[in-house]
Amino acid sequence: MSEIKTQLVVLGAGPGGYSAAFRAADLGIETILVDARETLGGVCLNVGCIPSKALLHVAKVMKEAKHLASHGVSFGEPEIDLDKIRAYKDGVVSQLTKGLAGMSKMRKVKHVQGYGKFTGANTLEVEGKDGKTTITFDNAIIAAGSEPVSLPFIPEDDRVIDSTGALEMKDIPEKMLVLGGGIIGLEMGTVYEALGAQIDVVEFLDQLIPAADKDIMKVFMKTYKEKFNVMLETKVTGVEAKDDGMYVSFEGKNAPAEPVRYDKVLVAVGRKPNGALIAADKAGVNVDERGFIAVDKQMKTNVGHIYAIGDLVGQPMLAHKAVHEGHVAAENIAGKKHFFDPRCIPSVAYTEPEVAWVGLTEKEAKEQGVSYETATFPWAASGRAIASDATDGMTKMIFDKETGRVIGGAMIGTNAGEMLGEIGLAIEMGADAEDVGLTIHAHPTLNESIGLACEIFEGSITDLP
Ligand code: FAD
Repeated sequence: MSEIKTQLVVLGAGPGGYSAAFRAADLGIETILVDARETLGGVCLNVGCIPSKALLHVAKVMKEAKHLASHGVSFGEPEIDLDKIRAYKDGVVSQLTKGLAGMSKMRKVKHVQGYGKFTGANTLEVEGKDGKTTITFDNAIIAAGSEPVSLPFIPEDDRVIDSTGALEMKDIPEKMLVLGGGIIGLEMGTVYEALGAQIDVVEFLDQLIPAADKDIMKVFMKTYKEKFNVMLETKVTGVEAKDDGMYVSFEGKNAPAEPVRYDKVLVAVGRKPNGALIAADKAGVNVDERGFIAVDKQMKTNVGHIYAIGDLVGQPMLAHKAVHEGHVAAENIAGKKHFFDPRCIPSVAYTEPEVAWVGLTEKEAKEQGVSYETATFPWAASGRAIASDATDGMTKMIFDKETGRVIGGAMIGTNAGEMLGEIGLAIEMGADAEDVGLTIHAHPTLNESIGLACEIFEGSITDLP
């Protein structure tokens, strides 16, 4: 058993944890970063955002190459080497995790590898490969993240996978069921479909990506009804493992009458916080029955010197939210009086087309009784979209009806997520439609659709590009 003393211990080295640790070290605080994984980066870098985007990149290029045939350039049928695809994905991950290790070393942030649990208000015990380490700390930041939700009625079987299993890409099944029509399921389904799998998606609610607006998802379905067999308002009631496949029974509006055979079932029904797994009670930190830890705007828990950030403090469970929360926690520990108080947090599904929104959706505006107006610009009227074969897209802006201020925006289409930052900035800066409409956007670009939607709201649009 070894013992270390430190000013700050950060439990969990995901985007929240490493961002907090690096900011704290930059502010002169002696910091230890604890994670059960060998590499830094947490879920996001190792089994989340980054490997999924590497695979989605492959899927996108394949689709584009195929599509070019109708414009006079043919490449023939793709030859898929799964080992090389996996190696490409793993290479992307290792480049980034090595980069993080370097940044950590440069800042003298010590990585203690092992599973950490609190043993008191100022002590954490870490069980690693080389035995136990007790860390005595002045301050702690809990950044232990989340893990996939599993469904109790689904048998344990290696043909049932979660997002981590899907990213391993052991094989490409002929027929796969994606259970859950949220972002993670649709992204992984997009990858497997491009590589040759036949995909069924089952979603309990009446639309895929339920948080997005209906008109946005209508555009999405135009493309995806050819890619996936989607069963909305339907639920899985049972899964039976047989020698020749997994037999899934359904119930609901679009349920097949008989059980359907699948080679694989991807369960993507959400993530649960890891708050209950770290013996937080020993430190006096309150954890609710679902495993979330409540914090104030300074990311402080009910125990004054212990902070919490990232997926385990609540929705949205997104890497960029965790990063900003991490900075706030570290800055407060360093004596600054900073708050996590964003006006908006962007959400993006990196499907093809991408679905992206920030600020209020129209659905939320209605629910909250906000007096609003929308303006939309269809990409079918965009010169750049037409020239790039990207007309299945739309930009939608949401304004406060009285002031014209931008309060939300959504885009669907190629690279929509890349363009969302402008709308987020407009919301944070309190810009109105005129501010954005008068900003000269380069022509022809897809993001001029944001300016044009604002001009439509202003009634000042004269011609279309
Ligand atoms: P995590 O990244 O969950 O990291 C927590 C770390 O803590 C883990 O490394 C874990 O090993 C460690 N840990 C937990 N408990 C202990 C313990 N007791 N002792 C030691 N170590 C412990 N978000 C986006 O913003 N954009 C995306 O494109 C995106 N894509 C995703 C794709 C997939 C397939 C998945 C699964 C998630 C995706 N997410 C995405 C979500 C994103 O990964 C999370 O929101 C983000 O990683 C949360 O960061 P975090 O710092 O809270 O913790």
